[in-house]
Amino acid sequence: MTTKSFSKANDRPLVMVTGGAGFLGSHVCDRLVREGKHVVCVDNFMTGRRANVAHLRASPYFTLIEADISVSLPQIDASEIWNLACPASPPTYQIDPVHTMLTNVMGMKNCLDLAYDTGARVFQASTSEVYGDPEVHPQTESYRGKVNSIGPRACYDEGKRAAETLCFDYRRTYGTDVRVARIFNTYGPRMDPQDGRVVSNFIVQALRGDPLEIYGDGSQTRSFCFVDDLVEGFFRIMRAPEAPEGPINLGNPGEFTMRELADLVIGMTGTSSSITNKPLPIDDPKQRRPDIGIAQSLLGWKPQIPLREGLSSTVSYFSAELWLTPLAEEC
Ligand code: NAD
Ligand code: UDP
Repeated sequence: MTTKSFSKANDRPLVMVTGGAGFLGSHVCDRLVREGKHVVCVDNFMTGRRANVAHLRASPYFTLIEADISVSLPQIDASEIWNLACPASPPTYQIDPVHTMLTNVMGMKNCLDLAYDTGARVFQASTSEVYGDPEVHPQTESYRGKVNSIGPRACYDEGKRAAETLCFDYRRTYGTDVRVARIFNTYGPRMDPQDGRVVSNFIVQALRGDPLEIYGDGSQTRSFCFVDDLVEGFFRIMRAPEAPEGPINLGNPGEFTMRELADLVIGMTGTSSSITNKPLPIDDPKQRRPDIGIAQSLLGWKPQIPLREGLSSTVSYFSAELWLTPLAEEC
């Protein structure tokens, strides 16, 4: 496919967003269309949802293409490629670990090859998982991580590490303009209620009056960033005049135990749900907190939305979503 085969308007710069029907990708698509780009969203709908981009379908500046990035990409004349395609929650990326690895490695290579042809700037959605179960706290970008390369999380962690390697090898070899964000746990509207991550699970369980399931004793920590803050960080990375030297941590340095998160969600929803404990998954990291010094000094970025405020709008979103889901499934 070339730009000429577009039936929609092609008088704006073309940008590609892989994984654009997912949680984060759909917010990126929104902002790019608002900015005056023609967005070509490429998604295989493994974890993404058409509903996330339904409001964009009528726009002449939004094109949705169903494709698997580990196989091939539409050959469009993109000026930017935003690579967000990859299942992100442990239960979903472990459904087909071989495919997760290929999505990360072959998908990244396909993005970089297209960028080689078009001269596009490339954004890679990397992850705090590259630090594994960290021995350095908080995690700085220079920390090289502690990942179990043969464990059940490796398809994701090592896949993302290999994708970073490809980015910087393409930069050194071909001069490709690559921008890499290491994303720490992010939550907010458009998360799939069935996604399996802790924020969505706890809120859905609380709203249904089911017990909140804490894996392990709940003493492990995570840092939670609201989606609007994160997306602002993405755009500061992509719009920086010079490509940053290396990957940049994006996350909210506020650190909470899973027990604290469960208590917060119970308090905010007013649920009568209890708390139960389930076994801790293998290789589950004990602690996570970003050092965001580089994002602050280089991009002037830091999160603005505290957890309580972000959770409040996320609870409202899930309340509406849970009400609508049974109706949507019947259609
Ligand atoms: P998500 O699961 O909601 O979105 C991923 C999207 O990629 C989905 O629309 C899915 O259908 C699509 N996809 C998956 N494999 C594909 C393939 N082979 N070809 C085409 N499309 C494919 O997850 P998200 O939270 O929006 O995450 C987006 C990106 O950010 C991912 O790359 C993820 O690894 C990264 N990330 C997210 C977080 C977070 O906390 N949300 C943290 C770290 C990294
Ligand atoms: N977790 C939990 N209950 C759940 C889902 C996750 O206690 O229903 C825990 C999980 O074991 C981990 C933390 O919450 O320690 C964050 O998990 P998530 O899947 O959101 O992200 P990740 O482990 O990739 O950081």
